[in-house]
Amino acid sequence: MKAHDGMYIGGRWRPAGTSDTIAVINPADERVIAEVPAGGAADVDAAVRAARAALPGWAATPPGARGAFLGALHDAMVDREEEFARTLVAELGAPARFAARVQTRAPIAALATYAELAATHPFEERVANSTVLLEPVGVVAAITPWNYPVSMIVSKVAPALAAGCTIVLKPAEDTPLTALLFAECVDAAGLPAGVVNVVTGYGHVAGQALAEHEGVDHISFTGSTAVGRKIGALAGGAIKSVSLELGGKSANVILPSADLPRAVAAGVGHVMANSGQTCYAWTRMLVHSDRYEEAVELARRDLSGYAVGDPAAAGTRVGPVVSAKQRERVRGYIAKGVEEGARLVAGGTEAPHATGYFVAPTLFADVTSDMTIAQEEIFGPVLSVLRYEDEEDAVRIANDTVYGLHGGVWADTEEEAVAFARRMDTGRVDINGGDFNTLAPFGGYKQSGVGREMGTYGLHEYLQTKSLQL
Ligand code: NAD
Repeated sequence: MKAHDGMYIGGRWRPAGTSDTIAVINPADERVIAEVPAGGAADVDAAVRAARAALPGWAATPPGARGAFLGALHDAMVDREEEFARTLVAELGAPARFAARVQTRAPIAALATYAELAATHPFEERVANSTVLLEPVGVVAAITPWNYPVSMIVSKVAPALAAGCTIVLKPAEDTPLTALLFAECVDAAGLPAGVVNVVTGYGHVAGQALAEHEGVDHISFTGSTAVGRKIGALAGGAIKSVSLELGGKSANVILPSADLPRAVAAGVGHVMANSGQTCYAWTRMLVHSDRYEEAVELARRDLSGYAVGDPAAAGTRVGPVVSAKQRERVRGYIAKGVEEGARLVAGGTEAPHATGYFVAPTLFADVTSDMTIAQEEIFGPVLSVLRYEDEEDAVRIANDTVYGLHGGVWADTEEEAVAFARRMDTGRVDINGGDFNTLAPFGGYKQSGVGREMGTYGLHEYLQTKSLQL
């Protein structure tokens, strides 16, 4: 694995303004695999200045030409696809197949949608006697989390570039290596200097300096609701536009008419994917009381097929969680579940391996909506099954959290499932296991966030309007 001692600023690798470093740890064996600079305010300032200097030229670059640059970036990422996947296994602990398909190939494909969108999107429209120009919002601060490192970078950088914005990216401290690899792809794609800049560092230092910087016009943040709240306050104080993609506690509602084995299997898979570290995971499975015990038994059986172990090994479906801190957090929630009276059906607090930040895939039954494990985001391989008595009860429980990021509904007919989905307070719902769509808006209701990513909705986050009355 390649170690970096610099930051990608103004189109070149520059030494960091500090000698402090962040050790990158492989969560499967707890070994240090690289060190990256812990950037500070001076690095952030240099990066924002580079982005500001590059803004007029990039904003004036015709959208079709911006699309061509995005196409070149796409190709550069395709060339390094295997390296991205290997790096994700090493720094995140993502199981190899998942790292290759979902964590690497999917975001590269999403990037291609923006290459096309930049070239085809109408950046002006006519409204009666006015022409409305859609102009770039300016310099963007992109702050990303560790759970889907490449996807999170792409879902900000691609639309921002398509819109004509320039960017300073501050990736999560746990997974900076994929971001540095991304910077190498930016360089290989020949993007003009300063259009994309990458500064590694801690959130409360580099992240905060970036969000506060007066040269930043828009903050695009993905991460926890706690930090999102701070970023939102900061943006409000400075009158900067902001988009926040935050936490989730999504409900998977299995209506009585549904194909129960299929719905349960998909529900278990949703939570176990990425070793339980997916913001939109269906961590609450809602089942009618008539079929409750059958569903719990099906989930228990499905879960036993999820092999936990070395993420690099073929056949592993659940790897470690990203860090020791995260492991302790998840175990704390499991202990809390037991303490509050939930029935532990599988898994528990015991570590499945002596080394590495592993958590046993865990299944709780008899979970009620007032329990901590039904309310708070656990961010580990933990599934709770809740019981409902009728449809009203199911709607109430599904909506009974501060979050509203995602959801699932299963029923015999699409109409029945859609009718239920309309009553859910959430930004996205999969009907009978509908496929992930990278062109559909992604974002939260309630405390799951503000703004949308993906497709044209994602592009609009990086545009501001100017109307000309003719
Ligand atoms: P986090 O909030 O701890 O960190 C996210 C990013 O913010 C990191 O880059 C971090 O360094 C930075 N940061 C931390 N403190 C900061 C500060 N004071 N100022 C500026 N930046 C700061 O989140 P995490 O633990 O990395 O990620 C997990 C969280 O992200 C979960 O809550 C998950 O649900 C959420 N998430 C949401 C989505 C979504 O699309 N809604 C997607 C992925 C993850």
